[in-house]
Amino acid sequence: MSIPKIEQKSLEEIKEFQEGKLKETLFYLQNNSNFYQRLFKANNINISEITTLEDLLKIPVTTKDDLQKHTDDFLCVDNKKIIDYVTTSGTMGEPVTFAMTDADLDRLAYNEYISFSCADTTDEDIYQLLVTLDKRFMAGMAYFLGLRKLGAGIIRTGPGLQKLQFESINKFNPTGFITVPSFIPKLINYAKENGIDYKNSSIKKAVCIGEPIRNTDFTLNTLGKKIVDNWDIKLYSTYASTEMGTAFTECSVGKGGHHHPEMIIVEFLDENNNPVKDGEAGEVTITTLGVEAMPLLRFKTGDICHHHTEPCSCGRNTMRLGPVIGRKQQMIKLKGTTLYPPSIYDVLNEIDSVDNYIIEVSTNDMGTDELLINVGCNLVLKDTEKSIKDNFRARLRVAPDIKFYKPDEISVMQTQENSRKPVIFIDKR
Ligand SMILES: [Zn+2]
Repeated sequence: MSIPKIEQKSLEEIKEFQEGKLKETLFYLQNNSNFYQRLFKANNINISEITTLEDLLKIPVTTKDDLQKHTDDFLCVDNKKIIDYVTTSGTMGEPVTFAMTDADLDRLAYNEYISFSCADTTDEDIYQLLVTLDKRFMAGMAYFLGLRKLGAGIIRTGPGLQKLQFESINKFNPTGFITVPSFIPKLINYAKENGIDYKNSSIKKAVCIGEPIRNTDFTLNTLGKKIVDNWDIKLYSTYASTEMGTAFTECSVGKGGHHHPEMIIVEFLDENNNPVKDGEAGEVTITTLGVEAMPLLRFKTGDICHHHTEPCSCGRNTMRLGPVIGRKQQMIKLKGTTLYPPSIYDVLNEIDSVDNYIIEVSTNDMGTDELLINVGCNLVLKDTEKSIKDNFRARLRVAPDIKFYKPDEISVMQTQENSRKPVIFIDKR
């Protein structure tokens, strides 16, 4: 397919286009959303005075807490118009219920259609979908709808199940995966252990969801490198959430997920809800466009990203979103340097002597953050601690405190009730 016309226009034209859509959205919220009616009234907001994207600053932001406490007030349609009931994955706090109408499902299909097109997908492609399609998740269904609209083939294998994945590859010759990238090394291991010639299989690419595969300079991070070093496939990152109902997907250039101006308005805000300066990372704050059941206005996602506005060589002029560098709640300020857990994981994952780890953040007597890394290490030599700290200084400019354990001890410490995944980050602040 061709690139949507609006994505090839200048940034000024894109802004003007979005301001037109914003007006429609505000009018719709004023008429249909209990939550936003109340918010406009309480803050003396006359929506006819909000005409530019800059004017958005006059409207208070919407938080996850608002969404959790007043879910029903966000719903803009009659129950009988709802088709699909989904919940957010709830990685932070309680899951929130989201409802979608028939029109919302069409919008979602269009969103994934332009996103997959952006990632070089055509009707010649066959994707193996290593994603859950039920359990009230939005993502798997969204991918299905978008690929269907594109005319691409779809194999719904779901997550896990290494054996089934390779059986399907043999049987249907898919061209790509849609998967969390951390599953690909597991597939590679399985293939190696079972003598499967995965390198000469039909798989040529993977659309990677949920986890970053790049550093902020767009080079591949430890996970990304681990994949391509063992399997020469092209990786495309995509970033999305249930609340946004919109995806930011990389094109072949691989320099950030492209913004689709028909779907969403994006702001990048600092701790005081002011726009960040150019080049600074900010909290992704979104206003959905064209959503019928649960549209959101200035919703703070909690994700911290850089953004890039120079035109892309793929022909799109839209803003590009860098990898998520962390969650706002998990920000650590260590000796004047701002850090997020993923950058710490990335350093640790690259050090051979580190088997496993738990990161612990606490507040010290001075009221500032303290960072302790409990490292699981089989053999602690005289310079092991120094070498780990040097790695941190080189990559992040600061070195945390290190405490050594046996890898088995760390494994036990990582196991916690109510958590399916090993706990590797403990916030005591
Ligand atoms: Zn591009």
